[in-house]
Amino acid sequence: MKTPVADYLAHVLKQCKQNDQGALADYIPELASADPNKLALALSTIDGTSYATGDKDTEFTIQSMSKPFAYALALKHLGLESVLKKVGVEPSGEAFNQISLDAKNKIPKNPMINSGAITTHSLIHAEAGADRAETLRVFLSELAGRELEFDEQVYRSELETAFRNLSIGYMLRTVGVLDEDPVAIVHGYIKQCAIKVTVKDLAQMAGVLANGGVQAKTGKRLLSRVVVRQVLSVMMTCGMYDAAGDWLTTVGIPAKSGVAGGIIGVLPGQIGIAVFSPKLDEHGNSVRGIEIMERLSNDMGLHLMEGTPSAQTIVQRRYVVAETDGNNQTVVYELRGVLQFTESEMLLRILEDEPEGDTRIILDLTNISLLHDVGARMLFEGVNRLIEDGHTAVILDAEGILTEAQCKGRKTSVVTEPLDRYLEKQLKI
Ligand code: GLU
Repeated sequence: MKTPVADYLAHVLKQCKQNDQGALADYIPELASADPNKLALALSTIDGTSYATGDKDTEFTIQSMSKPFAYALALKHLGLESVLKKVGVEPSGEAFNQISLDAKNKIPKNPMINSGAITTHSLIHAEAGADRAETLRVFLSELAGRELEFDEQVYRSELETAFRNLSIGYMLRTVGVLDEDPVAIVHGYIKQCAIKVTVKDLAQMAGVLANGGVQAKTGKRLLSRVVVRQVLSVMMTCGMYDAAGDWLTTVGIPAKSGVAGGIIGVLPGQIGIAVFSPKLDEHGNSVRGIEIMERLSNDMGLHLMEGTPSAQTIVQRRYVVAETDGNNQTVVYELRGVLQFTESEMLLRILEDEPEGDTRIILDLTNISLLHDVGARMLFEGVNRLIEDGHTAVILDAEGILTEAQCKGRKTSVVTEPLDRYLEKQLKI
């Protein structure tokens, strides 16, 4: 059997191709010569599987889609508190290149508009000898899983007409948000926008954000969960410029667009999406890109506010093991999926039904894919209460999903060997 996902994506692309509205960005001369017919779509799941269709190998410049990743790098090196002193998190409702500051704090309103992005660029920590755009290029290459390059032509072309971004840079220097030469920073920011990508690269990058900061193909953690949460929150509220509210209600996926015609979307815990079509609407967002994202969101039920009830599936199976351990019964709870608050609440409610007594209860985490701190805390609390009721209760963590911090001081309730070996030993089977 061949999965129909690829066919479905090709079908969506074909239907949206008919929409010929919008215009190429022309304030960057080089972008005005782009092929307006190019159209591509890619999707990346959190286990690293990718689908791509249309002009999937066509390279274009990342432009403003670099902003969330530059913000992530700044957060990674400086921490949230320091970054918040320089750039806010409030949607501006203004055009992307507005020369503006937050009226009260006198800092850029958010990192997704140009004033915030130029400031964020200045916060990227570059190793000695490397420029900040180069640091970002290396980071994006790691996210994409291949070596990315700069588009020198687009870079030089934007430099020639960068008057507005330079004005923003001088304004930021005047109020002390920037404390270095604003021209060098604006040039660096423009270079960051000129990194060349395909939709496949972008879907991989978005996939890392969807996967909580881990690049699924390499298994490497590139960003912490806290940083990813911050970046996605800002993408949700500010990613689509002055169309952010419309986007949130119709598409409902944290996203970022770029003037070369790309849009990335991230559905936390599910998928990363990337589309490319160069013709833009009056807000600077790809016309066909928006249509494709709307279609995907509706067809696949991706709107974030729809939620995904997962608690009901937490207990995959409850079974009694043959009674070879004296008169004691041994009961295994096979758990699966994600263990967060709602799933833990459901699990503990199910455990409430265990009658008091001396049953041996094994909570098997082998099929748990993600264990949040709150899940771990509630799990250990459940074990304590089962023990208080007279049971023998253990958590079986054969895959090592519990972190050191989560089981600190509670190791005695954790078994790390596979279930059959543990049962063999305990029950002398
Ligand atoms: N380099 C572009 C600029 O700063 C990026 C804008 C965008 O992609 O929206 O004007």
